[in-house]
Amino acid sequence: MSDPSSSPSMLSTTIAESDSPERDPKYYFQDGSIIILVQSTLFKIHRSRLLQDSSVFGATFSLPSPDRKAATANLEGDSDENPFVLHGETTQRFRALLFALYAMPYEIENIVSDLDLLVNAASASHKYGFEGIEKWAANLLKKKIQTEDFSEGAAALLPLFEYAVLSDSTDISNDLLRIILQDETSVVRTIIRADGEEHEYWKKLYAIALYRYTIKGPVRWKSEPHHALLPVRIRIILHVASSTLAHLPHAISWTHTCDGEEKCTSGLASMLKACTEGYDGGHQPADFIGWYRYIRPRFKKSYYPKSTRCQDLGVAECANKAVKFEAGWWDFFADLKW
Ligand SMILES: [Zn+2]
Repeated sequence: MSDPSSSPSMLSTTIAESDSPERDPKYYFQDGSIIILVQSTLFKIHRSRLLQDSSVFGATFSLPSPDRKAATANLEGDSDENPFVLHGETTQRFRALLFALYAMPYEIENIVSDLDLLVNAASASHKYGFEGIEKWAANLLKKKIQTEDFSEGAAALLPLFEYAVLSDSTDISNDLLRIILQDETSVVRTIIRADGEEHEYWKKLYAIALYRYTIKGPVRWKSEPHHALLPVRIRIILHVASSTLAHLPHAISWTHTCDGEEKCTSGLASMLKACTEGYDGGHQPADFIGWYRYIRPRFKKSYYPKSTRCQDLGVAECANKAVKFEAGWWDFFADLKW
């Protein structure tokens, strides 16, 4: 090991004092040609490896010519004391990239079971433009999420969702949306993770997770082990959303073609109420879509021959609302007023 404390001043701008850098136990090759600092870990690797398949490092490291190198005493990346500093990177992610660059065939077989390693390799190769590696990792990830059972602990897939957003992969994000939201225990963690994100994939995940949680209703929230982790702001959103949705079936309004609006509206309300007899268990008051799906097959001419054409318009309005909600929960939560 070198003694990094021999020239602390050169490193002090990038490394906290308590964090003197250490050499990575695996990726510090004595015959390496460039020393890279990521957080507080030093990697000594081969420029030639970094240049293959990569546009980003290609542009960064192809600059100094051999002549210039001879003339410059201490080039960035030549020593532990003057490493090439890779900002905005994590040790874990950079190590995953190096794994993909250096792994032996028998090691590669094992990576398939390591979700974090694969996700990190995919993200890092995307960031630095290793197209071949990214394609390889992304294919493995797709296969993994299509074949493995994540019905419990799907929150572990949130970092993969991050990668889907980064690489703009609709395939992966849609698969994940389905899996993550199936796992009841992941919903709160999903809400917390996605809160405040601006990308449309995150917004979609956030809004659907909020909806899924909203329809559980205040009584069940109390028994949720993770409920206390939600910020007050989100809990308020949930309460307002819950009561807004629960009130919807009682507040269907449409443009009447009849001449007795009040009577028409209350008439439809009682017909809808009759439709929902037996409707409670499994369905929460805020589950407007579930409610509509339940009444739709029951509200038929054979059951309600006296329903007027105008009241049929009211039912069509319920359908509109249900379709609109399903297509854009984000709009519902974004428009919520309190
Ligand atoms: Zn009417």
